[in-house]
Amino acid sequence: MVPEKLGHLMVYYRRWKDDINQVITTYALRKHKKMEEVPYDTCRQMVLDDLKTMRNPASNVVNEWSVYYFPHVFSEDYAAGWYDKVEAMQGKYDTYYAGEIMAFGDMDETAEYSRELVERFF
Ligand SMILES: Cc1cc2nc3c(=O)[nH]c(=O)nc-3n(C[C@H](O)[C@H](O)[C@H](O)COP(=O)(O)OP(=O)(O)OC[C@H]3O[C@@H](n4cnc5c(N)ncnc54)[C@H](O)[C@@H]3O)c2cc1C
Repeated sequence: MVPEKLGHLMVYYRRWKDDINQVITTYALRKHKKMEEVPYDTCRQMVLDDLKTMRNPASNVVNEWSVYYFPHVFSEDYAAGWYDKVEAMQGKYDTYYAGEIMAFGDMDETAEYSRELVERFF
């Protein structure tokens, strides 16, 4: 993440490539590591301004929300064996750990890890 990009439009997509008059989906990142969180309204305005810069200004916002996405460990924790420690805890005290932190921030890999966990223990 380049610091000056925080809060700016990060992902942009639309269904039809030849027509800009359609619902546009955008994502932005407001927080990264030790950087200061960009307030929601500031980020919202930055994205709207970015759309103007792209010559695809939004006439209105149809839907919007803020989400805590993709919990993950940092490189230092990874190197220090975070996953080995959690794997060693799996099943202890009848407790199991699953979800995207154990795999990756998408449905496929999250489900795949959970399936493997079930096959391993049940
Ligand atoms: C905007 C967005 C777009 C995405 N697009 C895609 C995509 O196109 N393709 C793709 O593969 N992945 C996509 N993802 C990622 C995907 O949604 C996640 O990787 C996946 O849902 C993670 O699954 P999970 O089970 O770890 O967490 P979640 O799906 O978040 O499930 C956690 C559940 O736990 C519940 N919960 C939380 N706290 C408690 C509590 N204390 N007690 C009881 N219940 C609790 C929550 O309500 C929630 O239902 C997207 C994510 C976001 C945010």
